Amino acid sequence: MKHVISAVCVRCGAEHEAVPNVTTCPKCGGILDIKYDYSYIKKQLTKEQLTQRKEYSMWRYREFLPVAEEGNYPKLRVGWSPLYKADRLAEKIGIKTLYIKDDGINPTASMKDRASAMAVAKAYEAGADTIACSSTGNAASSLAGNAAAAGYKTFIFVPERAPKGKVSQLMIFGATVISVQGTYEDTFRLSAEAIDRWGWYNRNAAINPYLMEGKKTVSLEIAEQLDFQMPDYVAISVGDGCSIAGVWKGLKDLYEAGFIDRLPKLISVQASGCYPINRAARTNTPLEPMEENTIADSIAVGVPRNPDKAISAILESNGVTVEVSDEEILAAMRLLGRTCGVFGEPAGVTGTAGVKKAVELGLIPKDSSVVSIVTGNGLKDVNNAIKAAGEPIHIPPQMDLLLEAFAKSGGPQ
Ligand SMILES: *Cc1c(COP(=O)(O)O)cnc(C)c1O
Ligand SMILES: [Zn+2]
Repeated sequence: MKHVISAVCVRCGAEHEAVPNVTTCPKCGGILDIKYDYSYIKKQLTKEQLTQRKEYSMWRYREFLPVAEEGNYPKLRVGWSPLYKADRLAEKIGIKTLYIKDDGINPTASMKDRASAMAVAKAYEAGADTIACSSTGNAASSLAGNAAAAGYKTFIFVPERAPKGKVSQLMIFGATVISVQGTYEDTFRLSAEAIDRWGWYNRNAAINPYLMEGKKTVSLEIAEQLDFQMPDYVAISVGDGCSIAGVWKGLKDLYEAGFIDRLPKLISVQASGCYPINRAARTNTPLEPMEENTIADSIAVGVPRNPDKAISAILESNGVTVEVSDEEILAAMRLLGRTCGVFGEPAGVTGTAGVKKAVELGLIPKDSSVVSIVTGNGLKDVNNAIKAAGEPIHIPPQMDLLLEAFAKSGGPQ
């Protein structure tokens, strides 16, 4: 892999060989970041060559990814999700230009598929036969699905609160599922111990530096879909911090390779009941744990695993931090559904809720252009969807009762 130079520690700067099962820095325990040779990448791929490609998945960007050119790519079709110009939603929110990147259409219905597909590719290179992770739910279901398609065994640790939709995916994909009676923090700790003990391939967020490399493909797609004319802002919900760090890495890769000539600012959106990364970024103080007090289970992360990269991404991009309440998240679920036909889970729409809030608070100018990433599909968590949208008209099959119900609710004239 001539385009990959090393795995650099974001804390002490030590460089390590980017072997397939590399984890954290052996010197200081810091998180590693994959370093590329951009002048080599530039020689291998031009924008024109890229846009001619017929591979409509994240692997169309293989020159930017830590995989061999003729790699054994996982089977599921991950990536190349649609980017919708959302004019009616933009008008409702009061912003000039808004695009919705619907990553809920991925095979297991969240953006986590990008990371899990990469984990499976690297597990293959490492010669592993079993992959494990702990997750608030989506990393788990995406690992289980992508691993199943490639014939790997999985051991998956989820906190007991994980929504049924996500747990059912795990069971269908044949994972061994350990539902931990405790917080995500407890779940993570137990999984780390088990992974150590049994030597499984580790797909834990922020331990495995390759996951972010998969996630960054969302930015590569956004750029290509916008003909490399970048928006002012990219908004995304933040839990562990790997997704936003991946978004930033993808943008910087494109910039370094000369594919784009300006970098958008990030909008980091967290729940007002759990925002340790935003607090640390805004106040420039070390990260302090927080309670996990939000319906958006995928971003209810009190002790984030990747604060270093996430916070530097927000600061480097000169970004915006904003928090939204559970009510604002539920409202964004309705708004996206009703103006765009896009159905997101609570954490999936949190980025869009944050765009609305940022406009209201004057944190971003009204004449901005924004891409908002919807990170997970609403069918994963139907209880909260019903909470957001309410119940239908319930009646027996009789026209007079239908007329009566319409008279009350304002049906057709
Ligand atoms: C995991 C996840 C996020 C947040 O990603 P982090 O890397 O944990 O910050 C946001 N939305 C959904 C739907 C997710 O599954
Ligand atoms: Zn280090």
